[in-house]
Amino acid sequence: MIAATQNKGKLKELRQITEKYGQQLISMAEAGLGDLEVVEDGETFAENSYKKAHTVAVLTGKPCIADDSGLCVDFLDGAPGIHSARYSGEHGNDAANRKKLLEDLKDVPEEERTAHFTCCITLCWPNGKTLVAEGICPGHIAFEERGEGGFGYDKVFMPEGHEQSFAELGVEVKNEIGHRARALARLEKLLDEEI
Ligand code: IMP
Repeated sequence: MIAATQNKGKLKELRQITEKYGQQLISMAEAGLGDLEVVEDGETFAENSYKKAHTVAVLTGKPCIADDSGLCVDFLDGAPGIHSARYSGEHGNDAANRKKLLEDLKDVPEEERTAHFTCCITLCWPNGKTLVAEGICPGHIAFEERGEGGFGYDKVFMPEGHEQSFAELGVEVKNEIGHRARALARLEKLLDEEI
């Protein structure tokens, strides 16, 4: 199965989680697609996720899994949402994106800093068959960066029930309660129902 993402953080997490299900994920580079980027011009996580999975499944003739995800902050009416990767203006500049988010929420009190991560996973077969699964992880935005490691907004997101950021909590906790893990667990249920 191919993972339709150029994001190394996502690929690492998807691999760790899919290994639990006995699946080996091949990267786009390993599938011979080099640094192909699928343009994410959809208006929802589901549209973008489908576009990535479908494009790569048709190009390679292999089943393909894609993730479209992002951070939705209540005080910002759901922003950055589908624009999470380019919130600061420069696509994929995680440090600049976190800096802008912390600045935008500078004077916002703790109780109004609620947010959630959403992840939409699409699994597409080359014949067009498609399964879609969504996972959400609620929490709130920290006042400053906390911890090392992770990617994207991990250093500023504190999942519900924890007083540490995703970056501080580490991959094991994130792969249990995170939006990506939840979406994959849902996908597993859908696959079970198919069989
Ligand atoms: P896209 O799905 O490629 O549009 O990018 C999603 C963006 O959302 C990433 O670049 C990150 O900024 C952010 N994001 C998605 N999932 C996570 C996560 O698990 N941790 C931190 N940031 C994330």
